[in-house]
Amino acid sequence: MSQAQRLDEFALIRQYFDRPATGSVAVGIGDDCAVLQLPANHQLLVSIDSLVEGVHFPVGAPADQLAWRLLGAAVSDLAAMGATPAWLTLALTLPEADRDWLAAFSEALHQAAERYSVSLVGGDTTRGPLTLTAQVHGWAPAGQALLRSGAKAGELICVSGTLGDSRAGLERILAADNSDSFLQQRYYRPTPRLELGQLLRGVASSCIDISDGLLADLNHLLVASKVGARLDLSALPMSDEMIAVAGERAQQWALSGGEDFELCFTLAADKLEQLQASADCQITAIGEVQAEPGLYQRQDGVDLPLAVAGYNHFKSEER
Ligand code: ADP
Ligand code: MG
Repeated sequence: MSQAQRLDEFALIRQYFDRPATGSVAVGIGDDCAVLQLPANHQLLVSIDSLVEGVHFPVGAPADQLAWRLLGAAVSDLAAMGATPAWLTLALTLPEADRDWLAAFSEALHQAAERYSVSLVGGDTTRGPLTLTAQVHGWAPAGQALLRSGAKAGELICVSGTLGDSRAGLERILAADNSDSFLQQRYYRPTPRLELGQLLRGVASSCIDISDGLLADLNHLLVASKVGARLDLSALPMSDEMIAVAGERAQQWALSGGEDFELCFTLAADKLEQLQASADCQITAIGEVQAEPGLYQRQDGVDLPLAVAGYNHFKSEER
């Protein structure tokens, strides 16, 4: 950037993003790198997510909602791996330094970072088409991160929370109902299952977060684990609010609606009860891992194949 723009850039960072470093942050915003302290015998887990205007959100979407969605989606990946959240770096590409937008965005970002227990320790600020990128960092005891690849035949397949709420929230928002009710909140402010993810360390054999829809994400887990699954669709956890909006589409939204940011994981059947007693959210068993690859539902004693459709940027069809 030019000299004049750089001054703006540094003032912008100081005013909106620089906050005192704490705890595991030896050096935060203001030097060339952040210097971060990982606990002994722990591994670093890193994940990055971008939101591009016109692709992931409509032009003119409220800045505070963008901050929550950006961080919610990023931190959900830490939850899926059983990481303890720690740090956040933020790359902002802005068409202009709009003070109202920056104030709303940074305020919500700091709130979301506090809620999800990540400290903003650095970033990059550039001019261009509006693009928001969050990289989150967490840690887990060495060797204990939850992977997609550990599911074994005979284990249960479980999900947290309720499914399809975000899809139903979007439906309400598209119908110009922007009230602050449950479904809209599930869309705008997802609840990444950070506590559950950490609780699943040493308990779950595999885990993934549901960002593209249950079937699509479960399928990633099954492929990584080289196994298959049989689901009981009557067990899918669905909220009354979602069912009221979805009607006949409820099961379809629970299976394929994206951005719920719940966890889908596998575990030995004898561990379910203890987990349900100690988790801070609903845990529902929805099926069983099968040795043979493939995704099936059991109906009237027969296994029927389930078609997998989820969001994929490089395919023409959306969910
Ligand atoms: P450099 O030119 O050495 O890469 P920058 O001038 O881009 O550094 O950034 C200066 C400092 O401000 C760095 O510590 C960087 O991490 C931080 N920073 C830049 N943009 C942001 C942002 N959007 N949010 C938080 N920190 C930022
Ligand atoms: Mg530098």
